[in-house]
Amino acid sequence: MIKRVHHIGIAVADLPAALDFYVDALGLTGPQHREIVTAQKIVATFIPIGSDDCEFELLQPHGSEEGSVHKFLAKRGPGVHHICLETDDIEATLAELKAKGLELIDEHARSGARGHKVAFIHPHSTGGVLIELLESD
Ligand code: ZN
Repeated sequence: MIKRVHHIGIAVADLPAALDFYVDALGLTGPQHREIVTAQKIVATFIPIGSDDCEFELLQPHGSEEGSVHKFLAKRGPGVHHICLETDDIEATLAELKAKGLELIDEHARSGARGHKVAFIHPHSTGGVLIELLESD
């Protein structure tokens, strides 16, 4: 079952400029979490929004190999990259979506930032929006 929007992923080319906006202009001064996610070839910076029920995830390419965020930036420039929905059982949700004929980027969950189980649904099946599923705990 889908519980809530967990975070909104934003591809950024210039992290200091992005922080000028999110922290200085919008005033989102809560505790940030920064992590290199080797499997996705990114540095992720999480910024809590208000009460911490939802966050922005600023995504920057990391390392010399070209990952999906590098390709996204080259093709479309900075902007909204994905919406992440939290589910109480990611494997059950993936199985259900597969049974409904949706195209999945990940048929099974993998390890994402902060050790959460994550998987992506292909934009072909969502009307053009990259959706990430996440199971916390
Ligand atoms: Zn994400």
